[in-house]
Order: sequence, then C-alpha cells, then structure tokens
Amino acid sequence: MKQLDKLPRPGYFGEFGGRYVPEILLPPLTELEEAIERIMPSEEYRNTLRDLLENYCGRETPITLCENLSKELGFELYLKREDLLHTGAHKINNAIGQALLAKMMGKTHVIAETGAGQHGVATATAAAKFGLRCTVFMGAKDVERQAPNVQRMKLMGATVVPVQNGSCTLKDAINEALRYWISHQHDTLYVFGTAAGPHPFPTLVRNLQKVIGTEARAQMLAKTGSLPDYVVAAVGGGSNAIGMLYPFVGDEGVKLIGVEAGGTGEPGCENSAAINLGKPGILHGELTMLLQDEHGQIEESSSISAGLDYPGVGPEHVYLHSIGRAHYGIAYDQEALDAFKRLSRTEGIIPALESSHALAWVFSHAAEIPAGSKVLVNLSGRGDKDLAHALQHITLD
Ligand SMILES: *Cc1c(COP(=O)(O)O)cnc(C)c1O
Repeated sequence: MKQLDKLPRPGYFGEFGGRYVPEILLPPLTELEEAIERIMPSEEYRNTLRDLLENYCGRETPITLCENLSKELGFELYLKREDLLHTGAHKINNAIGQALLAKMMGKTHVIAETGAGQHGVATATAAAKFGLRCTVFMGAKDVERQAPNVQRMKLMGATVVPVQNGSCTLKDAINEALRYWISHQHDTLYVFGTAAGPHPFPTLVRNLQKVIGTEARAQMLAKTGSLPDYVVAAVGGGSNAIGMLYPFVGDEGVKLIGVEAGGTGEPGCENSAAINLGKPGILHGELTMLLQDEHGQIEESSSISAGLDYPGVGPEHVYLHSIGRAHYGIAYDQEALDAFKRLSRTEGIIPALESSHALAWVFSHAAEIPAGSKVLVNLSGRGDKDLAHALQHITLD
C-alpha cells in the first residue's frame, strides 16, 4: 500500500476530487486533458482569450470601495465587480475559455448543464460568438422556473433540453449531459459550469476563473498599497470563489472565506452547505463533500438563490477547508435578502442573490472584523435577474 501512495494522482486535491467515472467516459475526458495541455499554453489561444476577455466580456472589472457601507461598518469594504461583465456574472470567464478550446479542438458542438440558467446563457453566448452549435441540458423543473433565461438561450440559437429524470433539477441535468457526451464526443465538448465534476474540470474551471483573483490582488496593491485582510466569496459549486481565493492562497496574512447557503435556517431545513453540513461521497465523478441521507442517497439542496443550489461542492474547496487555509461560513436566506436590499440602498448596486450571501457573511461578522481592516468581496453577478423573486420576500418602504 505504501507504494500506492507514491503513484501520481492528477486531479486530486488531498484526498478529494479525482475521476470516478465509468470507463466509457474516459476517452472524452482524456481527449480534453490532452487538448488543455496542447492548446491552452499556445500563443494563439492565450492571445485570442485575452482579446475576448477585454473587448467582448469587458475585463478588467473594477474594484469599488463602498464608502457609505464602510462608514457604517468601521472597516473598508471593497467589491470586485464581476457583475459588470457581459451577461452579468463571472460565468462568461469560464464559458468563453472552454468554448474557445472547443473551437480550436475542431469541435462543432458544445453542450452544457444549467440550473438557474446562468451557465446555460454564458455557454449559449460563447457558442453564438464562435459559430458553434449549442445544446443546454436543464432540469424540467428549472425550465419552468427560469423562463427568461430559457428565452435568452433560445434567442442566441441554443437548443434547451428539459431533463425529466430524478428530481428534474441541476444534478439530473449534469447526469444527462455526461451521458450525451459519451455518445457524441467526436464532434462535441462538454462545457462544465463550475469548479467541480471529474478531473480535469475542477482545475480547468479554476484556471479560467482565477483571472478574478489575479486582477483583484494587483488592483488592491495598486489602489491601497497592501493586500486585503479578508477575501470573501459565495460558494455554490465553487467557481467564482476558487477564482477569487486561489491567487491569495500563498498570502499567509490574508483570511480566505467561502460562504455556503444555509437555506431558511430552520432545524433540518434543506440547504446547500455541503462543506459545513455534508459528508464525503461521490457525485458527478468526484470525491467531495455532499448532502446525503443515512443511506448515501443525495439529498435535495435548497437556497433562495438558485445559483447556489447544488448538493456538492468543488474538491479544491474541500481541500482548502481540510488544511485550514480557508474558512467556510454559512449565510441564510433572510440574511442574503437583507444584504441584497442593504447594498442596493447604500451603494446603488443590486447584487445577485448568490453574491448577497458573501455580503451577508461580512455583515453578520462585522463585530469580529477589526476596525480599519480591508475586506474584499467578490460580487459574482448582478441582481436584476433576482428582482421579481426577491421582491416576494422583502418590503420596499
Ligand atoms: C452560478 C453563480 C454562482 C454560483 O456558482 P459558483 O460556481 O459557485 O461560482 C454565484 N454567483 C453567480 C452570480 C452565479 O451566477
């Protein structure tokens, strides 16, 4: 057994991650891994991606100091403004990078899973830009709940396939997309939406999203002369958070905080806090922390924010948690709604309900954050998409 420990284990973060898939999924994953190594370091790929990120997506995104809130809180609150990107969230960073890879691999078709519809929209956008055919798998329940995003995808030429299996939500859409990929790998690339799933997706997605933290780190140094004391991001599958946190991992003095969705907060309520409340298990080809019952069956996740509604979490977060480098807190639905309203009123910025969870953690821990600290929050997306839903729960006078 000693020797087994010495075998190379690509795609593992400590004990977590890996590639727990049926053998017939290995060829497309291996082809993708080989393409990542061959194409992504090339000048053509890097220059094209840089140009697209700047001139199509709108990078770099600014850092905003929240002056009004900072006065109220007694420390400096900065936002990394991923809400200002094309399509309104960080997801385009990943979708455009994977779609470009697909194009340079000679693929003509991209597929994606989507829950709330945000990753589906980002992939449909990138596919339209590159002239690729696009098919988005979406739980039938989500197709009904997220009609405006379904319309956006269709407008941009994507085909949306309602998935009728299981709970008819995101986890079933991922299963269906993986199944489809097995039989269509010759012309199709699966554009995975978060830093989870089988190797190489967690690493690929992190590498495409780390532009967030790399920019933010340089901007904080240039703007304030030092690094932030806290860096905070909301965790669904974990892509915006790992993109923000990863470039700060080597900066020992910087506290890294991921915020999971706790749902309503009632005892035993459905939630999306896999690191805080889950157990180790295997889902979608990775060993990670999962919400599961005593028989190991995956439990339904639930959050006011559809984008955080995933029963698992990316393996790199589980690893950062296990070594104590990052801390993972919880924000509840009502706290996120309060933060949604508070940022809108004090700063004139309407945050996505997902990002509102990160803000809510900062607000609920304000008493513990030393005066004068610098707190950097990733504003992963804008909240216009959430307005109708949020207004069912908050009052406006
Ligand atoms: C999808 C989404 C998230 C959650 O996904 P991660 O992969 O955890 O980042 C967070 N914020 C916004 C705005 C989203 O659209």
